[in-house]
Amino acid sequence: MFLSHKSLQAIQIQPLKQYYSITINKSKWKSVVGLEVHAQIFSESKLFSGAATKFLSPVNTNVSLFDMATPGTLPILNKRCVEAGVLTALALNCTINPISYFDRKHYFYADLPAGYQITQQRAPLARNGNLQFSVFTTGVQKPYKTNVRLKQVQLEQDSGKSLHESDRSLVDLNRAGVPLMELVFEPDLTNGEEAAALIKELIIILQRLNTCSCKMEEGALRVDANVSIHQDGEPFGIRSEIKNIGSVRGVAGAVKFEIERQMKIKESGGEIVNETRAWDMENRVTVPMRDKEVQQDYRYMPEPNLPPLHLDVGPIIRDGFINIDSLKSKIPELPEQTRIRLREELGLTAEQCIILVNDPSLLELFIGSLNGQKFRASTLANFLINELNTALNKFEVELHDTQIRALHIGEIIRMLEGSLINRSTAKMVLDELFMGNLKAPSEIVEEKGWKQIVDEAELRKICQEVIDENEKMVTAFLKGKVKVFQALLGAVAIKTNKRADMAKCDKIMKELLHNIK
Ligand code: ADP
Ligand code: MG
Repeated sequence: MFLSHKSLQAIQIQPLKQYYSITINKSKWKSVVGLEVHAQIFSESKLFSGAATKFLSPVNTNVSLFDMATPGTLPILNKRCVEAGVLTALALNCTINPISYFDRKHYFYADLPAGYQITQQRAPLARNGNLQFSVFTTGVQKPYKTNVRLKQVQLEQDSGKSLHESDRSLVDLNRAGVPLMELVFEPDLTNGEEAAALIKELIIILQRLNTCSCKMEEGALRVDANVSIHQDGEPFGIRSEIKNIGSVRGVAGAVKFEIERQMKIKESGGEIVNETRAWDMENRVTVPMRDKEVQQDYRYMPEPNLPPLHLDVGPIIRDGFINIDSLKSKIPELPEQTRIRLREELGLTAEQCIILVNDPSLLELFIGSLNGQKFRASTLANFLINELNTALNKFEVELHDTQIRALHIGEIIRMLEGSLINRSTAKMVLDELFMGNLKAPSEIVEEKGWKQIVDEAELRKICQEVIDENEKMVTAFLKGKVKVFQALLGAVAIKTNKRADMAKCDKIMKELLHNIK
């Protein structure tokens, strides 16, 4: 059949129209989000074998006999992984199980040579945690705090990776047996921004604990998001699960999409089915996953080759044993404590504290620049958050790839606070540094003649010149067009290469114009 261009369009547009014609009444629905996070434990070797965990190793080179399920091989638990798991669970306010067990979870897949995964099902490493964190979407809403409960933390092995080609499938076992901690959060969140904020906070915590690299692009931290909707007063709805989301923004996008998809289905009289979906990053939609259509029976059973995992509590440290209390004392300052400290000790705003703490390299630069200096911390925070970030975007670089050091920033802020330079010049000095000028900021200012003009008489002279040269604007101003005032100040800035003390010019210009009247 021949289809004209028009009829083709008609066919394509129809489903789209249907899709958009549903107006969803968002206020009618409550959404619920619960996250499950697989975090790769930062460790040189695997959970039960001595094989390396190094990312991007040649295919099938990090594989011990145990990892490929050779008969007769036995698992040996990696102590470092248990310590990392306990430390993480403690930082998330969990109760540690003094005795936990390992179990086999069976399923059939080519990248799982043993036919089962060793995990913790009967008694996980830890339970009943909670985490308070801030949700802040810049420019959208003010920060607020929320709380999420942590159901459990368990240790488990990662599986290998299947590579499917058109005529065959290949298996890479480098990941098989890589240590994971699975963190199961309770369904206490309400939307994608909260889910993304939780992951962001978790990343900072795990990085401070040094228990996970959190490199999501390497698969070192993967998020499954469970999403459901219901109406006020009703029980929670049936959930769908979006598997393996690999970025923080992906978490926000996938959950947002999924909530709206479910609302559209419900509003048009449909029902939500319990299914696993995947996040299609490119098209920003969730799509059903084909592989999990049938309910699996994992046939859990105790792992007979591993004894129960005993952990010590109390003051007695036994050689070779892991002591929960001694790990407790190793927990470093956590991000929320840092924010509180920055607020209380330095008087920063909640927003500033969140932005700085959420960007570890920015925080490091902040603390380094502040070291021993007398200027106001808020001036420094503002400069880093606004001007430095603007410059990073403009020059398209990451902070650690630049020559910018705390010493430079400290010097710029000192000149700024001492009125030696103004804000515009501070930005120009920063640009110089970004462009590879290796001189000290004070030298740059000296050499370029960028010192701020603060002398009142000199500024008065310049303002008068601007007035004389811009008769039209002055007349317009005197006739009541007040907006012109900014243009006159702009002319002063241009004339002085932005070196004028603009606060003083503002005053002087007003005076001069008033006198003409
Ligand atoms: P199951 O025992 O079926 O695996 P869990 O209670 O372990 O279920 O929950 C698995 C994950 O799903 C958890 O992260 C939890 O927060 C989340 N979850 C459970 N019920 C819902 C729901 N109705 N809506 C959204 N998320 C949910
Ligand atoms: Mg579960």
